[in-house]
Amino acid sequence: MKTVLISGASIASPTLAYWLSEYGFAPTVVERAPALRGGGYKIDIRGAALDVVERMGLLPRIEALSTDMKVAHFVDADGKRVASMDAALFGGRENTDVEIMRGDLGSLLHEATADRVEYVFDDSITSLTETEDGVLVTFERGPSRVFDLVVGADGLHSNVRRLAFGEEGRFTRDLGHHISIFTVPNHLNLDRVEMGRAEPGASALMYATARAADARAMFLFASDGLTAARHDIEGQKKVVAERFADHGWEVPRLLGAMADAPDFYFDSLSQVHMDTWSKGRVVLVGDAAYCASPASGQGTSLSLVGAYVLAGELAAASGDHAAGFAAYERELRPFVAANQALAESNLKGMVMKSAFQMRFQMFMLRLLPHLPGSAGMAERVTAKIHEAATSISLKSY
Ligand SMILES: Cc1cc2nc3c(=O)[nH]c(=O)nc-3n(C[C@H](O)[C@H](O)[C@H](O)COP(=O)(O)OP(=O)(O)OC[C@H]3O[C@@H](n4cnc5c(N)ncnc54)[C@H](O)[C@@H]3O)c2cc1C
Repeated sequence: MKTVLISGASIASPTLAYWLSEYGFAPTVVERAPALRGGGYKIDIRGAALDVVERMGLLPRIEALSTDMKVAHFVDADGKRVASMDAALFGGRENTDVEIMRGDLGSLLHEATADRVEYVFDDSITSLTETEDGVLVTFERGPSRVFDLVVGADGLHSNVRRLAFGEEGRFTRDLGHHISIFTVPNHLNLDRVEMGRAEPGASALMYATARAADARAMFLFASDGLTAARHDIEGQKKVVAERFADHGWEVPRLLGAMADAPDFYFDSLSQVHMDTWSKGRVVLVGDAAYCASPASGQGTSLSLVGAYVLAGELAAASGDHAAGFAAYERELRPFVAANQALAESNLKGMVMKSAFQMRFQMFMLRLLPHLPGSAGMAERVTAKIHEAATSISLKSY
């Protein structure tokens, strides 16, 4: 039985581990965090990714955890509503697409694999050396071990990518924005409602999903030369507080809650572009290989689909991992390209460049419901995302 070490335990990793174990491989997952990481925004599962979770038997449970969002309101600095939009349209979702909290999906995927996959928390790979027998792996804490294959499913700042392919900067493309997300008290008593406030170059959002006791706040802003150190949480909080200091509406209260947030998340909006996703017995999947950025709205779906295809092609290659890796890239690359391409145009609608552009967007949003054929216009907005999300037909392996 082939042994596979997977670095990271978020979305791509447990999905890959599930399918590998279905096909008779023995996966081990190593996660740097001491326990499964919750937190993060609400994420969409669309198109081919819905087929993946359905084939895993998880779709009914995912649907039961849907955020069930109803409406998005846009407000001015005084909190006055200036426009509203149906939540599904705001999220670019079609009928069958499901929106779920990232943490809920991570927990479900972990649960689906916990009895058949070895999980090692609080550890990280320190070196990878290919030998005749496989890959000799050393860890920060545990003893070294040999695996037949190693997979990096450890996100945008992948450790495996750095060890096997080189420094991050060679592969990342900065989209010029930063994002921060964290839990806040639901002091507005929002019920499946999203509220947003934009200034040129910066947008703040607050929402509460179905069944949630708390709310989430999101801050998205143009980086303007910002280089906040990756592990300097206090420095990152300071950046968010400074950038949104004059934002009005509920922003001062949201920023006040940031200090105690249990799940502060902060990162640049970046994509990963690589000429190849494998090297010898090491391969990458999910954000580590082809991060599309939160602006694409497709990062999670790409991880689910990529993990399914990688496991399937390895199984189909019956022991020839090089052939399996090559087939994985052939199958997946067009799908990745189509979804990565969504990010830059989405971003233009998420952060306004000027006050004029902002006023124009609000005007159009107010006008939209009254225009003849507005339903058709709305459909066109989601059609582009749907086209990318369904641009792969999943094989049965
Ligand atoms: C806490 C958190 C919150 C997020 N919030 C959002 C969000 O709000 N919106 C959004 O669009 N995307 C968010 N993301 C990213 C989103 O989950 C991914 O874009 C997408 O789901 C792809 O998942 P992935 O499994 O490829 O990578 P990720 O979800 O990024 O997971 C990578 C995993 O690898 C682990 N890891 C990192 N380094 C090491 C190491 N050295 N050794 C072992 N493990 C390591 C990380 O702890 C993490 O669990 C978040 C990710 C995390 C981890």
